[in-house]
Amino acid sequence: MMIVKTEAVVLRSTKYRESSKILALYTREHGKMSVIAKGCRGARNKFGSSLEPMSYVQAVLYKKEGRELQLLSQCDLVKAFSRVPEDMERLYAALTIVALLDKVAHPEEKNEPLFESTVAALQTINNATLNAANVLYKYEMDLLGYLGYTLNFKECVSCGAPLERVATAGLKLERGGVLCASCTGKQLTDGVVSGSVLHLLQRFQVAADIGNVMDLSLDREQRAEVRNLLYRYLRRHVEGLERLRTEAVFASVLPG
Ligand SMILES: [Zn+2]
Repeated sequence: MMIVKTEAVVLRSTKYRESSKILALYTREHGKMSVIAKGCRGARNKFGSSLEPMSYVQAVLYKKEGRELQLLSQCDLVKAFSRVPEDMERLYAALTIVALLDKVAHPEEKNEPLFESTVAALQTINNATLNAANVLYKYEMDLLGYLGYTLNFKECVSCGAPLERVATAGLKLERGGVLCASCTGKQLTDGVVSGSVLHLLQRFQVAADIGNVMDLSLDREQRAEVRNLLYRYLRRHVEGLERLRTEAVFASVLPG
């Protein structure tokens, strides 16, 4: 048995029996871990509000090799991101990020840059007054990169021709990008990407920092196209990734 002290983001929190909760944490030191917090729902709850999804916490747990569920001993809030629930778009973006990471992350596979990027994304959403969903799009593109599937929208993935001011481009999912007009005519594609959406994706791709994409305003069609496209790339690389529940829940209430 080993005592582990680590920063973590709470990805999921489920009630268990009368007084406990089972949580999925994304930790800085050990990647995703499942833990049980005992006695956290009674009057003597020592965990406070630190067990809510999206919370950024400092956790202490007892880790036993080969055990699927580790015991959470202490959990202190570092940051609650309490402004996220103030509007639907922020809530949607933040909940989708934690739900997605929960699906994508393998147990105990450490990835510190991904941890940092998750915290930065939630922080940016917490502060966003506009375009919070942009953080989600940028996060998803970065996430694919961390998984080893970096997307490229700047050049044709077949011949390398630069893609500037094109009217449309052919989608090529297996190559992680799009095709120029000439290659689109010669190869099978997975659909068409409009020039305006391609331009947006290029802006997301080159943004060094997650906060650099906040000034881009997407209209309803562009959002739908970007969403759909990133999802198709994700589903190609993440086994068993179905439509996330947040997508269905928020589809009707998000602003155009
Ligand atoms: Zn080409």
